[in-house]
Amino acid sequence: MTDKQILLLPGPTPVPPRVALAMARPAINHRGPEFKTLWEEVNAGLKEIFQTRSEVVILTASGTAGMEAAVTNLVSPGEKVLAVTIGAFGERFVQICRAFGIEAEVLAFPYGQAADPGAIAERLAADTAHEIKAILVQHNETSTGVLNDIQAISKARGSHPALLIVDSISGLAAADLPMDAWRVDVVIAGSQKAFMLPPGLTMLAVNERAWQAAEKCTNQRFYLDIKKARKSGLKGQTPFTPAVSLLYGLRESLHLLQAETLAGSFARHVLMRDMVRAGARALGLKLLAGDDVASPAVTAICVPEGMKPADVINPLREKYGVVVAGGQGTVKDRVFRFGHLGYVSFNDILAGLAALEAVLLDAGVSVTRGAAVAAASAVMREGMAVDIETIAS
Ligand SMILES: *Cc1c(COP(=O)(O)O)cnc(C)c1O
Repeated sequence: MTDKQILLLPGPTPVPPRVALAMARPAINHRGPEFKTLWEEVNAGLKEIFQTRSEVVILTASGTAGMEAAVTNLVSPGEKVLAVTIGAFGERFVQICRAFGIEAEVLAFPYGQAADPGAIAERLAADTAHEIKAILVQHNETSTGVLNDIQAISKARGSHPALLIVDSISGLAAADLPMDAWRVDVVIAGSQKAFMLPPGLTMLAVNERAWQAAEKCTNQRFYLDIKKARKSGLKGQTPFTPAVSLLYGLRESLHLLQAETLAGSFARHVLMRDMVRAGARALGLKLLAGDDVASPAVTAICVPEGMKPADVINPLREKYGVVVAGGQGTVKDRVFRFGHLGYVSFNDILAGLAALEAVLLDAGVSVTRGAAVAAASAVMREGMAVDIETIAS
């Protein structure tokens, strides 16, 4: 059974069997009535996950294309944006802007920290001429395992007219982001994260203010034109051939999320986060993010003194079949990342921690045997007890 791996990645996540089966359905005409029904069901389900009444656009492409679509459909060359970065994906937004002639003013925070809404408020207050057309920010920064406070950032915007564009590719469905209630203008998601699908779809929810900006935007785009996608979508179609099988999978994963409820999904992710953090600490490992900003989707764990991330990641995979991710950006040589996002169970986390302990023991690190699993399972049991009490009351 050497092919059975436990994927603990911040995407792609494992795919539930029901979703995999749904994707095996026979082909249909993407200009026919069956597709229209599928399209409408998927759109209605997505609005629940985005917690919005706005139109959701689905593009056949990975998450980065969703980021690119948001930028190129809403900001014109020569215009300015405020790019709030707390890690590698924030830096990607900056690169996209610069590739399309947009002036990205960077408000950077150190890796491992969240953005300070006060600093954003201060910068926007100084922009009395309203030169800043959009604020670009990550909901969940996957490279560091830090969750930004989007509600506070939205409040920090105050009455400044800049659009708030949020990359929630690794956040949506794992952490709360009520788009309409928090007055977020654009939210970007991706299929291979908490949606539990293979890679290949990006979804953007776009509110009325943002659609108005799209009307005036002069930037270059063709395939990633969200206005074209919206127009076709209203007819139950897409401008170009969609990934029909992924949409079948998405319909099924939306059913799974509906059954679990959004609140249930958030609670499961938080509990998995707390298990990983307790387990890693019990092994004497340091965590990159503080408890107050820790992501429910991914945890960046520092390697012990004298070890490189590859010394942990490679034996975990080769010897124990547990697949975790490396570091990115400025912490590339210091951390590895335990994903706990999407179709991951408590048992997967316990197995991953047991394997991590074994790898450290193999490497001669002094750790208390069984400590990680004991700590994590205690957290699990407490979390489950809370659940049962909540249901009972
Ligand atoms: C995964 C991810 C992306 C990029 O998605 P791709 O599908 O690899 O293009 C962008 N932003 C965040 C926060 C992500 O986690």
